[in-house]
Amino acid sequence: MKRNKSFSTVPFYFVATPIGNLSEFTNRAIEILNSVDFICVEDTRTSGLLLNHFKINKPLISVHKFNEKSKIDFVIEKLKGGEKGAFLSDAGYPLISDPGSPLVNALLEHDIKVSVINGPSALLPALIGSGLDTSAFTFLGFLSGNNKEVTARLEKYKYNEETLIIYEAPHRINKTITLIYSVFAERKLVIARELTKLHEEYIYTSLKEYSDNPLLDLKGEIVIIIEGSKKETSSADEVLDKVNKLIKEKGYSAKEAISVVALIYDISKNELYNAYLKQQ
Ligand code: SAM
Repeated sequence: MKRNKSFSTVPFYFVATPIGNLSEFTNRAIEILNSVDFICVEDTRTSGLLLNHFKINKPLISVHKFNEKSKIDFVIEKLKGGEKGAFLSDAGYPLISDPGSPLVNALLEHDIKVSVINGPSALLPALIGSGLDTSAFTFLGFLSGNNKEVTARLEKYKYNEETLIIYEAPHRINKTITLIYSVFAERKLVIARELTKLHEEYIYTSLKEYSDNPLLDLKGEIVIIIEGSKKETSSADEVLDKVNKLIKEKGYSAKEAISVVALIYDISKNELYNAYLKQQ
């Protein structure tokens, strides 16, 4: 177990930055950035504009996903030499669909304290404005990969009852929603775009309605929020029917089908197995 006393007294800061509206940059973030000796950034141009706006003038070190590992030793060396540092991604929280993860791990391995300076992120305002269940949610980040890979990933969340949050680029949004509809069938869908900016908008629709009539001019930065799967209540016949369908149509083994269906209907695997054997 490692607690405060195991770590350096001076922390390395991971600072959240605005996702659009610059007024969301906190006083604390500005104070911290003014107090450090160097700032690691995902992109010197993007962060340069932000830092200039707030008249923060510090040496910048470019650390992005392609050079992150090689820059870590250099950063740790500086910190061990007594310098103070911070990390910014282009927008929102570092590490949330952004670089920074290898750096946090390396800092912790070297017993350098990590401190996170709160600020904006697209995830929570998208969820909160969606009107969907906020009591439990699953964040999937970007659904990267080809159609087959994305479909396989979505299949894993098909029976997840938590609200799902997905980041997506505007040029892929319609394709992605159609794919989600093909796996999840009908559910509530909310598209949150341009949060904190001039054209901020929440679009309240459903997977079917949107797939039937996709918007062709959806621009800007987008978060997709999808209602979680509903726990099904059903008769014994329907439950067994589902088991049989998974076996016949999807090639599941009896054991796999029983596990999945028991999970969906929140019933005992043993009882379902016994009922399955009886019908054989
Ligand atoms: N680190 C960021 C965060 O904490 O939210 C996320 C960075 S990720 C590279 C960029 C994605 O976040 C965009 O493609 C979009 O899905 C979402 N995003 C960022 N800013 C947004 C905004 N103002 N409105 C809606 N979505 C946004």
